[in-house]
Amino acid sequence: MHRGPVMVLAEHGRITDVDLTGANPPEGVAVTDLGDATLLPGLVDAHSHLVFDPNGNAERQMVDDDDATVLARMREHAARALHAGITTVRDLGDRGYLALRLREEYEEHAAAEADAAVDAGPDGLLGPQIVAAGPPLTGSGGHCWYLGGVADGTEAAVAAVRERARHGVDLVKIMATGGMSTTGSNPGGSQYSPAELRAVTDAAHRLGLPVTAHAHGAAGIADAVAAGADGIEHCTFMTPSGVKADLATIDAMAAAGTYVGATVVKPREGMPAEVLQTIEPYWENQALMWRRGVRVVCCTDAGINAYKPHDVLPLDVAYFAGQVGTNSSALASVTSLAAESCGLGASKGRVARGHDADLLAVRGDPVHDLGALRQVCAVYRAGRVVRTAFR
Ligand SMILES: [Zn+2]
Repeated sequence: MHRGPVMVLAEHGRITDVDLTGANPPEGVAVTDLGDATLLPGLVDAHSHLVFDPNGNAERQMVDDDDATVLARMREHAARALHAGITTVRDLGDRGYLALRLREEYEEHAAAEADAAVDAGPDGLLGPQIVAAGPPLTGSGGHCWYLGGVADGTEAAVAAVRERARHGVDLVKIMATGGMSTTGSNPGGSQYSPAELRAVTDAAHRLGLPVTAHAHGAAGIADAVAAGADGIEHCTFMTPSGVKADLATIDAMAAAGTYVGATVVKPREGMPAEVLQTIEPYWENQALMWRRGVRVVCCTDAGINAYKPHDVLPLDVAYFAGQVGTNSSALASVTSLAAESCGLGASKGRVARGHDADLLAVRGDPVHDLGALRQVCAVYRAGRVVRTAFR
């Protein structure tokens, strides 16, 4: 972290220079002085669900609501994230490729603005960068079946990968095990065989797509890692006799550079006992993985319940830092490391020349106190003002 004057120059949505010498701005350049603030790259939430209404019943809404209704909600969710300084959202499970549709809307709007066909300004349709997996692959009646990604067996799963590639997804998400939020699903149980997982990762990699696997069960995690998955979401290590880290798999992940999406979960009153029992060892395992060199990315699973609004990342990362690593490593985990995990290491997650001008300015020093992340004084997306304290 640099202390002292910082001047960031941006043009056409990109950072063209970062000056730390206290130099005067070049002549004729429009300047915004943010005063005494900490400037960070915009945050990256590497595990979100824009289709999920935190206050709604996901299963019912995903079955009953039409695309227009769901899209209207997604616009609100995305705007809420962006307003909090989350300038990139990786959507790890939508319905009907609606996250890609939303991204198209933003892109069309940005192009129209560039042509001056529509008004530029803070009220324009400005959204976070969206990275999208489309509907996650799952078994019949399996975790998140209601998103429409059911694919049983090798042939159907490989066909599903190809279908996603045709739709233009950025990666493939597969539910390697059951999940907690789906009625009747067993989070510890595997949904795919090692051979099926291998067929999916091979098919995706041939198409240039990374794969991330949702996995709570230790067996499902080990199988997905052995199959060459690029990321594991949650990575809880559930076994029939409780949560237990599997060191061989952890070291294999560290060696392969596998990302772990550490979705932040906090103990709270009224939680089912079987979930509560997993939380303490879950965090012990995340910390263990981090110490053993696994690339642990702090992320949210935004949308899945009322505690997970789409702007929860700044709050979640403070909790994460109390469990895993340091404030500095936690900040890297929601910026540069998260960007790398999304395949955007060259354009997001750093305040550096050539990177997108996605910026977050906050009052205070987040390295000292991560609560500062919620004292937002400005957000920029591709060089355009999302909010400043002066407006
Ligand atoms: Zn999720």
